Amino acid sequence: MLASVRTKGRFVPLAILGLVLAVLVVSGYAFYTKPNFERLNPLQRYVVAAVVAKWEKQVEAPSGEKQPRMEYNSLMNQLNFIEKMMVERIFAIDPGELGFKGPFHTLEQPGNLVKVPPRTYILKGQGKSTGSQYCPEASYNDYLRMMAQMRRDLGRELFINSGYRSPGMQAYLFLYYLAKTHQYSLQETARAVAFPGYSEHGDPVNNALDFINAAGIDGESPGQTPEDFERLPEYQWLLQHAHKFNFYLSYPRNNSLGVAFEPWHWHWEKPGSAKAATGTK
Ligand SMILES: [Zn+2]
Repeated sequence: MLASVRTKGRFVPLAILGLVLAVLVVSGYAFYTKPNFERLNPLQRYVVAAVVAKWEKQVEAPSGEKQPRMEYNSLMNQLNFIEKMMVERIFAIDPGELGFKGPFHTLEQPGNLVKVPPRTYILKGQGKSTGSQYCPEASYNDYLRMMAQMRRDLGRELFINSGYRSPGMQAYLFLYYLAKTHQYSLQETARAVAFPGYSEHGDPVNNALDFINAAGIDGESPGQTPEDFERLPEYQWLLQHAHKFNFYLSYPRNNSLGVAFEPWHWHWEKPGSAKAATGTK
């Protein structure tokens, strides 16, 4: 009787110590080691998946429309301590280390956004909406002029599939593609989605627009390739005429910015700006 009490008395503190050590080792492995760029470890993957599930609910409005102006802080406020730490750990990485060579733009929301009404395209016989988009006024006016000319020349037009995106929306998209498309490879995801603050979609002046045609071809939806967009007469028209409306292709094939070929992604440049004058797009 006396012996078993003594054993128990020794066993309890040992068990607690063991548990504390196990928690430290596991959380150290998961969160304090620098994330592996080629593939997150299983615990990091688990936490990222949980973040995406929480954010998905918040980003999808009740109408099913995405919210391009979603604030980063309101997304972060939904997370527990561990989830927050994981997200901060990822976005503290210098995207240059992941192979992305584009510039930093801003984390501020611009005050010059106009609301772009939703447009409907027909995909596999079904009507689908682009949802409401936002766009700085100057580039939106040039987009409208450009489409008027495209309709005259081709009898076709392109809709804005994605216009302005806040740093919050960009954070959501990065983690979404990290989890769902790129098997938790930070390196692979960085070729397709920019970090918050680094996207041309967040630039208050020289912002980017992603286009989709009336038949739902955007080059990046499931089952589509960039070449599907590249083959469109609308794309060929852009190559010849977009610069007259201050729009430029940002990511041609084998670009020096470390970004995959994105024929649907065009950015606006303020006329006369140094960037437009170089002619390197
Ligand atoms: Zn884009």
